[in-house]
Amino acid sequence: MSRSKRLYERSKRLMPGGVNSPVRSFYHVGRNPVFIDHAKGSKIYDVDGREYIDYVCSYGPAILGHANERVVRAVQTACEGGLSFGAPTEREAILAELIMTCVPSMERLRLVNSGTEAVMSAVRAARGFTGREKIIKFEGCYHGHSDGMLVKAGSGVLTQSMADSAGITAAEVKNTLVAKYNDRESVEKLFQENPGEIAAVIVEPVAANMGVVLPEDGFLAFLRKITRDGGALLIFDEVITGFRLALGGAQEFYGVTPDLTTLGKIAGGGLPLAAYGGRREIMEQIAPLGKVYQAGTLSGNPAAVAAGIETLSILMEEKEKGFYERLEENGAYLAGELKNRLGELVQVNQVGSLLSVFFAHAPVTDYALAAASDTGRFAKYFNGMLERGIFLAPSQFEAMFLSAEHTKEELHLTACAAGEVLKEMRMNGDVN
Ligand SMILES: *Cc1c(COP(=O)(O)O)cnc(C)c1O
Repeated sequence: MSRSKRLYERSKRLMPGGVNSPVRSFYHVGRNPVFIDHAKGSKIYDVDGREYIDYVCSYGPAILGHANERVVRAVQTACEGGLSFGAPTEREAILAELIMTCVPSMERLRLVNSGTEAVMSAVRAARGFTGREKIIKFEGCYHGHSDGMLVKAGSGVLTQSMADSAGITAAEVKNTLVAKYNDRESVEKLFQENPGEIAAVIVEPVAANMGVVLPEDGFLAFLRKITRDGGALLIFDEVITGFRLALGGAQEFYGVTPDLTTLGKIAGGGLPLAAYGGRREIMEQIAPLGKVYQAGTLSGNPAAVAAGIETLSILMEEKEKGFYERLEENGAYLAGELKNRLGELVQVNQVGSLLSVFFAHAPVTDYALAAASDTGRFAKYFNGMLERGIFLAPSQFEAMFLSAEHTKEELHLTACAAGEVLKEMRMNGDVN
């Protein structure tokens, strides 16, 4: 039995599904999970000594590649000075300044520990500021696992919102309204039906949790306008896109400025750190200045903050040397190569260092079209790629993430592996 398999058997008796976050279980691709020993640069190594080119990148944080030496050293140094104090530090101010330099719409911000917490807090701030209760989110957009955000509401935007999870009360989700991504009418309709009641529209400016789905031309600008006209706030959940699409995230990339922004993943350089922030008059509603309460014992802890400072500092230095242009070029190259090899079988969506291969026949522009993908085929593709040393997220509905450490050669090898997997699928009669 492989060490991964043994560890899985052991972990299953300890944690639900043997994992601390469900997507790690490989449940939907029909095999036991690979347990990781270590990772370096673009490579990840399992406990059985196998090496993979890693396209999970910890679901986004590892934009500099794994175990960047400067980031690791910064964390080590910070740890030696104590792990957490319950009192403010200079490092927190430094990180906040770096974030604001990158994302100027965040005039004030708070550091928190996870994307979930950042979104939950931003939504509370929006409600506190506007005095309204209803939030519009989009089907297929993920905003962490807080009660009010675990809603996609199925097909009809008119129907009563339904939670995606057991254990969430109807009261928790009744103020979460669901619109269709890239569908302006669905948003207009909700504004018309709930006049003066919408506190905020929250959106992933590039959706990356139903697979990667790009905003159509003008969609984000439309959201900016309708929220402003309706007295509602616009929240960009940039937990994935922040520091990835551009140093200033999707708001820089698309030139649309939200009222509130949430960041995470890259912001902590691989340690638990996230942030929310935005217009000063909104953020000044947060305690102790205002009546919106939000707190955190370990918020702004030295280790995570040091990792964030070093990661953002490197990104700022590298930006001058064409860092984001190179990521875009590599992303476009890999997307093109994968499309060449997999052909009619797939739709490839890509922007910058984010991409998705959908086993779908029609262009994927919203959740329903993403959900129409052939997940059985994806599972075969996933397994074939894993056997060839390519580590993908074990779900059709997760993005591929590129890091700065992925070489053209590795991208080429990845596309070649996809070609071989397709051949194998043909031989097995999985595709025509
Ligand atoms: C990952 C993610 C979150 C949740 O962040 P956690 O740190 O996992 O709680 C929220 N929003 C988006 C867009 C994400 O991708």
